[in-house]
Amino acid sequence: MRNLYFKSLFLLTLILTSISGFGQYDNNVVIVVIDGARYSETFGDAERSYIPHMDQLSKEGTIIDAFYNDSITYTSRAIPALWCGTWTKTVDTTYNGHSTQYAVKPSIFEYYRKHRYASQNECYYVLKHISSLWLPSFDQSFGPDYWPTFVSSGSTDNDVTENAINAMQQEHPQLMWIYLAGVDHAGHSGNWDEYISAIENADILVNDIWTEIQSNPQYMNNTTMLVTNDHGRHDDQHGGFSGHGCGCEGCRHIMMLALGPNINKDFVSNQYRRIPDVAVTAAHLLDVDTEYATGNVMSEIFTNAGTSALDSEKPFIQITPNPVSTKAKIIIKSKKISTFSLAIMNSNGYRLKNFNPVNSNSGDYEFTWNAASLPGGIYFLQVKTDEHVYYEKFIIQ
Ligand SMILES: [Zn+2]
Ligand SMILES: [Zn+2]
Repeated sequence: MRNLYFKSLFLLTLILTSISGFGQYDNNVVIVVIDGARYSETFGDAERSYIPHMDQLSKEGTIIDAFYNDSITYTSRAIPALWCGTWTKTVDTTYNGHSTQYAVKPSIFEYYRKHRYASQNECYYVLKHISSLWLPSFDQSFGPDYWPTFVSSGSTDNDVTENAINAMQQEHPQLMWIYLAGVDHAGHSGNWDEYISAIENADILVNDIWTEIQSNPQYMNNTTMLVTNDHGRHDDQHGGFSGHGCGCEGCRHIMMLALGPNINKDFVSNQYRRIPDVAVTAAHLLDVDTEYATGNVMSEIFTNAGTSALDSEKPFIQITPNPVSTKAKIIIKSKKISTFSLAIMNSNGYRLKNFNPVNSNSGDYEFTWNAASLPGGIYFLQVKTDEHVYYEKFIIQ
């Protein structure tokens, strides 16, 4: 009997181990940012003359034709917005003896590492050598403990890609951010041929990265790659390709190519999407909440099977009315999960109130809570299940 017990325990452990190894939440995400490629030279060009590889790849994936930098068309502000899933202030600081800036809002790296208990080896940010790296946040509940492994080395896009592929082969991080600076640099030279060859080179490197993903057993069939830009470049009516930084169509319109097992094939979406949607979509794939983000999941890029599989786990969470002044009704419904723990957090991530753990056979739960003791502001209801943490934002007036 005892023997049987241990045998079943062993079997159960084996089953659970294999589920966690190959479950749908073990998607990897690779984000490639090509700095400053104008849409008219990438997917906005009907011939796709300078991006033959990405043109070919797009038949296996989705292009968003209305993807925009919707705010500031400078790298220093658009990159943090790509990381953070929201436009964020940056603050001057000195770090390791270098003057630099940090983002005020938490980044995808911090959300991922904190919510998934991921080690630094599971999260990489690869870019050329820069002595004064722009930094993620120092947010009290996120911050440096959750920053990625920075690989800042080499000088060309080829160096960066090689370093990224090495990291994929050696550490196989689940979240990888690859920043290619060459196109923007060449664009600023004002030399059209240099600008175009930098785009052609980035096109080859994106193909190299996807080829690695397809041939690496850690990544094949469970990895989504998103390729985008931080900003475009002026269109010809606003100064031409050698600069950027304004609100013209050339500066704003950028590319989004998505590839992966849950991504629609040979699909061009016309839905308007914008920079803050990148981190939020990546977080959705990693099953991670982005409490302070304002972007949306680009759900149209996913095959129905992909989205419904991810969404069916998530409980329905509602706080009503929202904004609340005194009494709020909290409603939680779930088809699959019956045990939750609930807490109220403020916008700095401090836990202000715990509710008794909820155990409901029906999966539906409803109770009234008096919010009058808390000052006005933004709050979050944290709903924890055994495996996941969800946040619902609400306002107290
Ligand atoms: Zn630039
Ligand atoms: Zn412009």
